[in-house]
Amino acid sequence: MKGTILENGYPSIEELKNAHRFPSEERFQKGPVAVIECLQPIPCNPCENACRFGAILVGEPIINLPELQEEKCTGCGMCVASCSGLAIFIVDKTYSATEATISFPYEYLPLPVKGQAIKAVNRAGEVVCDGTVTRVMNVKQNDHTPVVTIAIPKEFSDDVRSMQRLNVAPAEKDHECCADYTYDPADPDDLIVCRCEEVTVGDIRKAIAEGADTITGVKRRTRAGMGLCQGRTCSKTVSKMIADAKHLSGDKIPLDTARPPVKPVPFSVLAGDEDI
Ligand code: SF4
Ligand code: SF4
Repeated sequence: MKGTILENGYPSIEELKNAHRFPSEERFQKGPVAVIECLQPIPCNPCENACRFGAILVGEPIINLPELQEEKCTGCGMCVASCSGLAIFIVDKTYSATEATISFPYEYLPLPVKGQAIKAVNRAGEVVCDGTVTRVMNVKQNDHTPVVTIAIPKEFSDDVRSMQRLNVAPAEKDHECCADYTYDPADPDDLIVCRCEEVTVGDIRKAIAEGADTITGVKRRTRAGMGLCQGRTCSKTVSKMIADAKHLSGDKIPLDTARPPVKPVPFSVLAGDEDI
């Protein structure tokens, strides 16, 4: 299917709806509700534990995709900052006659302030409309994951999922590690591409020069893509770097092999002497 999370690094709305990962329009019309855009079966369930209303079900096995029990969701937003994949949003289509609000995790500095005009972006990070910040929640329990709420024209409420970063001059931006970074051959070697494993442009260039011609090949040599986000942030950049170096188009670079994290187990478990 075109436009999938595996192709683009983010899910399309069609993919989310086809996978029954979107609240019903009837529920949207009742007030704020969580939209869980988590489509990869990895062992993860902090969202389930964060919801004291029992509105998120992961259950057993832990690689189940989270299910929203939309009738139980109050739209309280406690699950947003708990999601390590930054995949949960609160959408309020009842905010006003013309506007909806979107609440999303925002781990960049500077933080916006209430009342500030911003550019709202879609899942691909493209600007789709203007918006206004209505709330910034940066409490200790969120463990450095502020949750920003913006008001936007209602017609964009299924598309907008974040906001453009603030006050970042292009030269400074290229020297930060950020999810919206696009590879430029002029980039310095010390620029970080994989935030989780702190792998730099120079590390990846070296791996490609040594013969890595796939995302998996770069991963094996550098650990890029092995961290918590499992390549969500860096895979597209690594793919572009390989394509540039090999003079290929990006779609000729094989996709990364998605692997859920595993944990070490003692030999006694493998021998059947004890349970995990
Ligand atoms: S918004 Fe609140 S009630 Fe709804 S799923 Fe998240 S934590 Fe539960
Ligand atoms: S990535 Fe987020 S939404 Fe998905 S299972 Fe983990 S905590 Fe829940």
